[in-house]
Amino acid sequence: MGTAAPGCPGRAKLDGLRSRCRYTGRVNAQSKTKEALREITTHSADETIAFGRTLAELLTPPKLVLLRGDLGAGKTTLVKGIAAAFEAAAEEDVTSPTFTLVHEYRGPHANLYHIDLYRIDTPRELETLGLDDLRSDNSILLIEWGEKFPRFVRERDLEIALERDGENQRRITITGSRVP
Ligand code: ADP
Ligand code: MG
Repeated sequence: MGTAAPGCPGRAKLDGLRSRCRYTGRVNAQSKTKEALREITTHSADETIAFGRTLAELLTPPKLVLLRGDLGAGKTTLVKGIAAAFEAAAEEDVTSPTFTLVHEYRGPHANLYHIDLYRIDTPRELETLGLDDLRSDNSILLIEWGEKFPRFVRERDLEIALERDGENQRRITITGSRVP
């Protein structure tokens, strides 16, 4: 086990993943509030799932989380780890909500909603999904392509951006005012 780096909780676990963890602060241009930043690089889907498991520590409900990144970046893969950590679903049972749009995974401590807005283009279409009804003290919304709608960019607690950096390498950046 590695020594925990200051301001980088979970570093010991990340060492096992051969991942870098950087911790800085930046001012969000929109809200002018200081936001913390964590960045790691994973080298396989399994590492991203493992990182999703460690991320679950940051996700005490209620939360609205934006998952950003191109198709195939690893957003759904990350949710596998998060859902498993919450004992809400087995990794292999977490699949892309591309067509169903919302997948619900109920765990003993939180209800997870994995949402894919790739096919949703207008506020009216968004309305029909009734996402506001899913928000409760007990819920965590994990939204792919949520940045298409400015209200989610404003309301989000945490943003996780995944970037493809080669066949199996992904750079994952977490931004939020409550990243410890
Ligand atoms: P998204 O939800 O962003 O469209 P998916 O998670 O569905 O992406 O797909 C990511 C694909 O990339 C999967 O086939 C996965 O096995 C592959 N992959 C390869 N390396 C990684 C990695 N380091 N992290 C996540 N996925 C990876
Ligand atoms: Mg996906």
